[in-house]
Amino acid sequence: MDTTRLKKVLQNKESDVKKKLYALSLALHDQNLKDLEKRSLVKIREAIDRIDMGDYGVCASCDAAISDNRLETLPEADYCDSCHSIIDE
Ligand SMILES: [Zn+2]
Repeated sequence: MDTTRLKKVLQNKESDVKKKLYALSLALHDQNLKDLEKRSLVKIREAIDRIDMGDYGVCASCDAAISDNRLETLPEADYCDSCHSIIDE
């Protein structure tokens, strides 16, 4: 797992979400959408922190390794495939 590259992906996502939040802050009316974007920003930051701490790619629920496939699709994922199907991420 190339975490250096995934960290770049996450940082790009972070700046995209920040831009979206800024645009939303100008529009102001869609609070649900803003909350959704804020949550995803938190998850992205947590994932970047996990890369920095060296515990990236480990399921927050069962401690199993999160599959590379899943991390490629959703680099900020904090649950493995089986926990994700139980816990609504
Ligand atoms: Zn799990």
